[in-house]
Amino acid sequence: MPRSDVTEASPYIGRFAPSPTGPLHFGSLLAAVASYLEARANNGRWLLRIENIDPPREQPGASEQIVSALERYGFEWDGPLVWQRDSTEHHALALQALLDQKQAYWCKCSRRDLASAQQARVGAVYPGTCRDLGIAASSNLAVRVRTMNDAIVFDDRLQGLQSLSLEAASGDFVVWRKDGLVAYQLAVVVDDHLQQVNHIVRGVDLMDSTPRQVWLQELLGYRTPVYAHIPVAVHADGSKLSKLTGARALPLVGVEKILIEGLCALRQSPPRALLEASLEEIWQWASANWNMAALTGLTSVTANETTHLP
Ligand code: GLU
Repeated sequence: MPRSDVTEASPYIGRFAPSPTGPLHFGSLLAAVASYLEARANNGRWLLRIENIDPPREQPGASEQIVSALERYGFEWDGPLVWQRDSTEHHALALQALLDQKQAYWCKCSRRDLASAQQARVGAVYPGTCRDLGIAASSNLAVRVRTMNDAIVFDDRLQGLQSLSLEAASGDFVVWRKDGLVAYQLAVVVDDHLQQVNHIVRGVDLMDSTPRQVWLQELLGYRTPVYAHIPVAVHADGSKLSKLTGARALPLVGVEKILIEGLCALRQSPPRALLEASLEEIWQWASANWNMAALTGLTSVTANETTHLP
């Protein structure tokens, strides 16, 4: 059976959780808009969490840029803005729980060890070298969680039933990095649990992380939220919009037109007259007409970046 313990009666709690590795671009706007409108359409709450757990990858000023862009586009989040780094203590407790259950272990493999072990294997599957070595805790080692061959199954609202064996796909994966920082997979699961998030709408580029997150929820005794993975925005040549592929920061002027473009990319059909409307009127139309099902089965949408220019 697909794993999702959320019942129809649970009040909807959704979220947007950007990492401050750069300013928001059109692709991130799509995830923000879809998660926001889906929460509103369900009379739910929409939380904003800045995932600032990776200082080496953080770009100075990006958090502030993200928050001011969201404000400029008229997003209204419920409750206070949450900084993921504030829950470090909870991340450490979850790690300890996994270690105590012997579901996780310390790993001394270096990147070089793994690279040579993997030459003979397909993909980046961890060969399990340290799994049964009983290595003692140490501040400069990583921690991995044990995986199983049984399939992890979840029913994505847009992409359908997903089933994957973690042992075959990634092998035991890192939940605590050897530089002493929590890994994304563990942090996101702990924080969604702490914030009682029960609906996750995000880009399909994160879908290969979802089975690892569902597995951690199971090991930690958390509920599994309902997932909906929306298409990612791609350039005309099919490459994903990202900082690496030169995606522009969302402009802070002419935001009405860009929001309408976002709605079009999300396969909503705003009337032409909305081009003359205020931001508030655009959001009113978007909330009243939101139809996430229009994205069913889509994994990418093309963004014509030149039309984002004010
Ligand atoms: N922080 C992640 C990112 O910006 C997203 C996390 C999530 O939605 O689960 O890619």
